[in-house]
Amino acid sequence: MLGAVEAGGTKFRVASVDQDSLDVIDEVRIETTDPDSTIGATIDFLRSAKVGAVGVAAFGPLDLDRISPTYGSITATPKPGWSDTPLRRRLMEALDVPVGIQTDVEGAAMAEFELGAGRDCSTLVYVTVGTGIGAGITIDGRPHGGHGHSEFGHVPMTPVAGDNYTGRCPFHGTCAEGMASGPAIEDRWGRSGDGLADAPEVWDLEAVYLAQLVRIITYTVAPHRILFGGGVAQAPGLMERLRRAVAVDMAGYGTNPRLLGDLDTYLQPAALGQEAGLIGAALIARMTVG
Ligand code: ZN
Repeated sequence: MLGAVEAGGTKFRVASVDQDSLDVIDEVRIETTDPDSTIGATIDFLRSAKVGAVGVAAFGPLDLDRISPTYGSITATPKPGWSDTPLRRRLMEALDVPVGIQTDVEGAAMAEFELGAGRDCSTLVYVTVGTGIGAGITIDGRPHGGHGHSEFGHVPMTPVAGDNYTGRCPFHGTCAEGMASGPAIEDRWGRSGDGLADAPEVWDLEAVYLAQLVRIITYTVAPHRILFGGGVAQAPGLMERLRRAVAVDMAGYGTNPRLLGDLDTYLQPAALGQEAGLIGAALIARMTVG
């Protein structure tokens, strides 16, 4: 039995999962309040489920440097009370089993490779566009790794001519997250994306900025596919707009004409929706024991 923890900013989904089938045996949802209460309830559930390993797909930022003394901690998060929380260490010490940890988007990428829209994609990128923008990269289903985790949401955007919006990111202003996240849309247009479904100018502009992000990912990572999840990415017609904008933005330049000539295949919506995080957490657990 594996323990899977999708550690989100508003709730933790905690489950016991069959190691082979990845079927959820039992699950509980815990409101994310303060670390002691939330992690304590997580430990109580996993202890009674007698799990042999735990995987965590967590909101970040996270310390994922394996030789760091604070490896597996949530670092400087704006979420009150959670900065410098040693999430992995507390689970390990309480449960005395191996605990793996990755970002929520990395977990989603792993899940999409295993069971979703990224199967057979040796190098896969999963992009979430919602409250923030982030990306997970898997190589043959395993996390890309590195000295930490990627922060593709904070790459710079080139403002479109005539767009004077100064951006929503407190660090960079007009980075991808600052220009194209859900809060940026609401800030720019005065309403949330849900209330703007009939405003094509909103989604045309959104597609132009996401196309810049696709170009950056394509030219740096050269993935076999890029998947889009998260609330904003669900907007009707956005994927079609994005593919058209990408064709313009990349201007026919790229090292793999076969892939880049078929943007319907190259750029796809994620398939697992809300389940990606928990499945990813189970895969992170499985990775710690096999
Ligand atoms: Zn930024």
